Amino acid sequence: MTPSLPTRLADAAESGRVVSRREVLAAVGGAAAVSWSRADARPMADATGDTSVQVRVYSGSLPLRIRLRSAVAGSDGWPPALRDALGAVDDALEQVRDYARERSRLESPDLRVERGGSVRLARSAVQRPSDVVVPSFEAVLDGFHRRLRERDALTGSTCHLLLCWEPLNYRVGYGGTLSPNAHVGDDADGTSGDALTVANVGASERWDSRDVTRNMAIHETLHTFLSADVVEAVGGSPCDHDLGEAVRVDDETLRISPMASAYAGREEIGAGTRFHGTGCYDHSAFHRHGGTEGVENWTYTTDLSEATLEGVTRYLERTAGP
Ligand SMILES: [Zn+2]
Repeated sequence: MTPSLPTRLADAAESGRVVSRREVLAAVGGAAAVSWSRADARPMADATGDTSVQVRVYSGSLPLRIRLRSAVAGSDGWPPALRDALGAVDDALEQVRDYARERSRLESPDLRVERGGSVRLARSAVQRPSDVVVPSFEAVLDGFHRRLRERDALTGSTCHLLLCWEPLNYRVGYGGTLSPNAHVGDDADGTSGDALTVANVGASERWDSRDVTRNMAIHETLHTFLSADVVEAVGGSPCDHDLGEAVRVDDETLRISPMASAYAGREEIGAGTRFHGTGCYDHSAFHRHGGTEGVENWTYTTDLSEATLEGVTRYLERTAGP
């Protein structure tokens, strides 16, 4: 790896998606379709409104020192950072289930989180010479997609979350998604309805904290359950990040929810997450934002904002609708 540290570690992938969203606002995240699950040969939702969606979480290749430490600790091969990331995603979906149930929506939401094992990325068809040193986000996602196809793991209604360990890969940044596999159940272009997303646990662990790792794992997962039209209907802005919130706890402290993570701080090194996201955001359009004036401390909560809960619930209702 090049000794020069990334000058800007951020949502490289999201940047690609969001820039195109800015350019063609309404074109991205368009019609989600009811998709069929190959695994059980039934529609993603039946007439009673049942919703069956999986989030399958995979570990990417881990550095030797991390693997050794996990082995010594007698764990199951997943270091604490990955287990915590997976647990955070599980907790986030639990919040969605509770939110929907309390409002008698999504009658039988079957939102499951499960481990998908370890994956060594396949060589990507989009790989360029420069990708050998620092793989591009496109190459990572393509290699991931190829492995999933090889394993026959695509079901039509699954979010596949790759927890990778690339602390110096500024092209992957904190992670993200890319069209055409950016939304669960969106089979509009015939690509199966599975969504692929990446959370760079190595980056958040190296540059930030375990709290940021948890939040970014949730953040990158929920991108696949939030399309621009649903987000705009809920929050008045098509940007997923604006559904997040940054709440003043005291004069110097902001508490940041998952969708706002990497976007709630000032656009400078260390004002919030170490690196600021490069995707869309507008603090004045956030669900709640207390401002960054005088803020020196940044804390993170895995509690989803109400706007995020509403957005994901609406997305699932529409995706699972008749
Ligand atoms: Zn994002």
